[in-house]
Amino acid sequence: MQCFVFLGIQGSGKGTQAELLSERINFQHINIGDLLREQVMKRTELGLKVQDIIGRGDLVPDALVFEIVESSLNPDRKGIVFDGFPRTLVQAKYLVEHFEVLQVFFLELGEDEAIARLSSRRVCPACGANYNILTNKPNKDNFCDVCGTELIIRQDDQPEVISRRVKEFYEQTLALKEFFAKRGILSVIDASEHIEEIAAKIADIAERLLKK
Ligand code: AMP
Repeated sequence: MQCFVFLGIQGSGKGTQAELLSERINFQHINIGDLLREQVMKRTELGLKVQDIIGRGDLVPDALVFEIVESSLNPDRKGIVFDGFPRTLVQAKYLVEHFEVLQVFFLELGEDEAIARLSSRRVCPACGANYNILTNKPNKDNFCDVCGTELIIRQDDQPEVISRRVKEFYEQTLALKEFFAKRGILSVIDASEHIEEIAAKIADIAERLLKK
């Protein structure tokens, strides 16, 4: 199955851009972080296993991530937009073995800017919509535009956990940039621009590849 991938430091806008691209090209959007949080909320066996790991800001073991990827695939969709996957080299190798990766979009953003964005992020605990009180405010302060629920700060967006997640990113995920660059499928995108400008650049690249 064909797929596109979003890589980038936490707060670089992967989730937002992956959502926009998947809607535009009608691919399934798979966000591993959201799927894991859903398991935690439902208190499933997997959720209970990963709850503390996520709370600390550490990475969930690869085998559990593969389990969740496989169980979330929708065979009726023509392709997938992965967001938050892969995050380790083992995951990257799994990805290229199991999927046809059309392009990897690396959303580049400085560490200070990423931390500032994460600190101002708010999420809807009911439907998962994401907001930012500086750059992407809800229409009514602190309430979700989609379903009206009061917004919260994610537990792993607390300052101590943020610094751990950013460290994790530099230790593990940055190596993936090189892995995909060597395969000639990496596009580096400046994530400091406006959401719409970034989305247009990404859509342009994706649509050209899909036409081939
Ligand atoms: P995110 O919402 O993408 O920041 O993910 C939240 C948390 O879920 C991360 O801090 C990890 O604990 C876990 N997680 C998400 N994606 C992965 C992945 N591909 N590999 C391992 N852990 C992951």
